[in-house]
Amino acid sequence: MTEQYDYDLFVIGAGSGGVRAARMAASTGARVVIAEEKYLGGTCVNVGCVPKKLFVYASHCSEEFKDAKGFGWEIGESRFNWSTLIENKNKEIERLNGIYKKLLENAGVNIIYGRARLKSSHSIEIDGKVITAEKILVTVGATPSVPEFPGSEHVISSDQVFFLPKLPEKIVIVGGGYIAVEFAGIMDGLGVETHLIYRGDKLLKNFDQPSAQFAAKEMQKKGVNIHYSTNITHIEKQSDGTLICTLDNGESLTASQIMYATGRKSLTKDLGIEKVGLTTRNNATIETNEQFQTSVPSIYALGDVIGTPELTPVATAQAMVFVNQQYGDGSKSISYENIPTAIFCQPNIGTVGLSEEALKAKGVSIDVYQSEFKHLKHTLSGSEERVLMRMLVEKNSQKVVGMHMVGPDAGELIQGFAVAVKAELTKDQFDATIGIHPTMAEEFVTLREISYSF
Ligand code: NDP
Repeated sequence: MTEQYDYDLFVIGAGSGGVRAARMAASTGARVVIAEEKYLGGTCVNVGCVPKKLFVYASHCSEEFKDAKGFGWEIGESRFNWSTLIENKNKEIERLNGIYKKLLENAGVNIIYGRARLKSSHSIEIDGKVITAEKILVTVGATPSVPEFPGSEHVISSDQVFFLPKLPEKIVIVGGGYIAVEFAGIMDGLGVETHLIYRGDKLLKNFDQPSAQFAAKEMQKKGVNIHYSTNITHIEKQSDGTLICTLDNGESLTASQIMYATGRKSLTKDLGIEKVGLTTRNNATIETNEQFQTSVPSIYALGDVIGTPELTPVATAQAMVFVNQQYGDGSKSISYENIPTAIFCQPNIGTVGLSEEALKAKGVSIDVYQSEFKHLKHTLSGSEERVLMRMLVEKNSQKVVGMHMVGPDAGELIQGFAVAVKAELTKDQFDATIGIHPTMAEEFVTLREISYSF
């Protein structure tokens, strides 16, 4: 740390990774400043994980009302008020923004609100002022990427869906990844006629396909209309605001909103990247080494902007490693293997380890143990929802190399089992674990028969 610079560390972007890095670095005694042009907490807190999960809870309520009847509850007519949800969600996000501010301030981090641009390897320009730092950390994240085509100006992305003044009566959602699938579930649960348009023939193409296809069927059973192997060619807006989208299969659909969830692009534009000579990839993500160091030695980057899995826990884990390496004993590193993740569709998909497709591509011999059943709750609720639990075991070593579940709270459940997969436990060790009865989770320690092998 040197007095030659205004600060030891200048962090650009107060999202999950940036905030964690800034406050942990400051807690080691480093002089840290963080710049943010929009909102503290970044995508996750403001237009991502947190408000999305609140929307998921809201949409689940409709099922809970239905399920309650079989248990003897007589529930009157229920009505949903979108404005109440948005207001309450906004209040909660404001509260979280305040918590992020306090966390930074209490750690001694200076916060500057404004657009920061790299000026040189040790300086940043923000609102006409130049600030110097020994090290710069770029954590600017990513933003929704919507293709341009005739009428694309009428569509919304996940950034706008959290602030819609009115719940649409009918929505068309485009994409087959996390966001499209999650929002199809949210909108359907809230009573919106939901159409999911995907250009491919299998949703969630990078996930374990038997699980993804099972989840897609469950979503269809609940009422989501999935249109495979097609895409929108153009959109026209009628005088009453109705949107008509024409598909490349010749069909057309009307909707009150059209949402694109077609991936995200890193926010590296107008950041001064070219000026300081940072190396970027074709998709505009910043290249770094394992220490998160860019091609300019004093500039580091982490989180969504470097092209690693775009997940909050990945960004915060990277931030902890960065701080340990720069301001600690340097003993920590990060592994991107066996990252557990969940898709909060309805029912959830929870997953850790490799998919059936990835294992086939690796040519590993695998025994698949799987169980499909009706959740005990639904024996009385009358719901037709089913659960799928899959465990993929490497034949030779007997290590459990993949666990995939489609069912209520699969995200919660897989988080615990992820420790076992990370620890490379064997099937025997799962078998030796006594189950908790009656739960869905106990299936994972009572799977005795091999369902099939490859
Ligand atoms: P994804 O990359 O997951 O999916 C993008 C989808 O859009 C793909 O199905 C892709 O199709 C399709 N697509 C891309 N371009 C076009 C186009 N021009 N026309 C039609 N379809 C197109 O991105 P998301 O936006 O869903 O999410 C971004 C990231 O955010 C995720 O990868 C994830 O890391 C993170 N996230 C995590 C969540 C969680 O942890 N629960 C929740 C939400 C987001 P194809 O498959 O053919 O390429």
